[in-house]
Amino acid sequence: MKVGIVGAGPAGLFLAQKLGEEAVVYERERRLGVKPCSWVVLSSIEDLITQDEILFKITGYRIFLDNKLIHEVHSKEPFAYIIDKPRFLERLSEGVEIKWERGVIKGDEINGVKYDVVVDARGYQALSQDTVLAIQYDTTYHAEENVLNSYFYSDFVGYGWVFPGPYGARIGIGGEAPLPVLRERLNSILAGEKVGYGVARISMGGLRQGNFVGEAGGAVFPITGEGIRPSLMHAELMYRKLVGEDVDVRNSSLFRIMNAHLKVVEEARKSERPGEYVSRVFMGTLRPG
Ligand SMILES: Cc1cc2nc3c(=O)[nH]c(=O)nc-3n(C[C@H](O)[C@H](O)[C@H](O)COP(=O)(O)OP(=O)(O)OC[C@H]3O[C@@H](n4cnc5c(N)ncnc54)[C@H](O)[C@@H]3O)c2cc1C
Repeated sequence: MKVGIVGAGPAGLFLAQKLGEEAVVYERERRLGVKPCSWVVLSSIEDLITQDEILFKITGYRIFLDNKLIHEVHSKEPFAYIIDKPRFLERLSEGVEIKWERGVIKGDEINGVKYDVVVDARGYQALSQDTVLAIQYDTTYHAEENVLNSYFYSDFVGYGWVFPGPYGARIGIGGEAPLPVLRERLNSILAGEKVGYGVARISMGGLRQGNFVGEAGGAVFPITGEGIRPSLMHAELMYRKLVGEDVDVRNSSLFRIMNAHLKVVEEARKSERPGEYVSRVFMGTLRPG
């Protein structure tokens, strides 16, 4: 079986690595890991990352609502990591055939080459709806290396963040608000000299069916915007399907977690103060439903 995969992000490469020689991946960028991302993964997937891919071990978490600190937790053991995502992707790409060109899918062909199976792993670029905008700066601000800071705003679903990053801090925002609102809120948390900038979209709509993996298939947890872990989970399910297992996505933990997130988003949208609703769910002081 020859499988053509368009997109060398976590989903496309994880699937390709599992398939080995059967896979060919198309990537339009000149190197891996260019897409704007904060590189946070939960420690529950630590068996998929190596020690030298870990940049920071996260043991603390702060929640701000309308720029006021409302919650802070610290743990002994790391519950998340900031990884060197390009390095992680380089490892996933070992032994994988990559064609460094933009892939155009037409039925069972990519760029005119026929495959037994074609998989779309183009990330948010594969989505025409149910996405929100996200903006992120790399700055020289010296953020605490073991703490994630999330900034919720009562008037929309989404959040800003100040996370440790390779140059000091990653400071960004994403959510269901118009660009000027996102920019104004982002300006209120920006600190340090700007050394990098990225803008992208994030899936908010949940999983969709078809030959998609990762964010192209909606595998992003919508209240956190976490996409690396769900993309790997989604690729694993696709791999099992391709090798002939009888896989029902609806019985997967990916599907269950996704639905829990979608429920929170739905309830938050109905609430008068959506951002406050989400922050309270995060803090564990509110159960959706
Ligand atoms: C600002 C921001 C911060 C984020 N922070 C985090 C975070 O901290 N933790 C987390 O878990 N998630 C985060 N996410 C989400 C996460 O980055 C994505 O959900 C995840 O990378 C999705 O993986 P993927 O492999 O599905 O797609 P992607 O990583 O988007 O990879 C898709 C690949 O396809 C390529 N491509 C697209 N079109 C074509 C084409 N036509 N031909 C060839 N190649 C193509 C792209 O260049 C890209 O390399 C963040 C997102 C944003 C926008």
